[in-house]
Amino acid sequence: MNIALIAHDAKKELMVQFCIAYCGILSRHTLCATGTTGKLVSEATGLDIVRYMSGAQGGDQQITARIACDEIDLLLFFRDPMTAKSNEPNDLDMLRLCDTRNIPVATNIATAEVLIHGLERGDLDWRNVVNPRSR
Ligand code: PGA
Repeated sequence: MNIALIAHDAKKELMVQFCIAYCGILSRHTLCATGTTGKLVSEATGLDIVRYMSGAQGGDQQITARIACDEIDLLLFFRDPMTAKSNEPNDLDMLRLCDTRNIPVATNIATAEVLIHGLERGDLDWRNVVNPRSR
């Protein structure tokens, strides 16, 4: 599966801890991330991650474009709900596209835990039909 990782600044440490905890599962998938999130996670875990630009410079839009092309099977986007972001409209567009494409998305660690266990159990294997590149 192609998994995208994004974390707002206040949630980056949480994302790192999540990826350390589930490194074994994540290592069996293809990962991409916005710039800083990807850097922090790969440094902490050694996971191989395709890194796009930082979110503020358009990395979130690069991931949105991949979502639009059905190239992302799971989005883990740890949002900071307490701080207004200049690129918030882009975030909403990304989430809208996930709903359009029926792409599983977690915006907090509680949902991410459920999805990662589901991923491990094979609950998301139907994505292989939608996106043959997931295999
Ligand atoms: P970053 O981008 O991982 O480059 O910080 C995430 C974001 O949109 O804040």
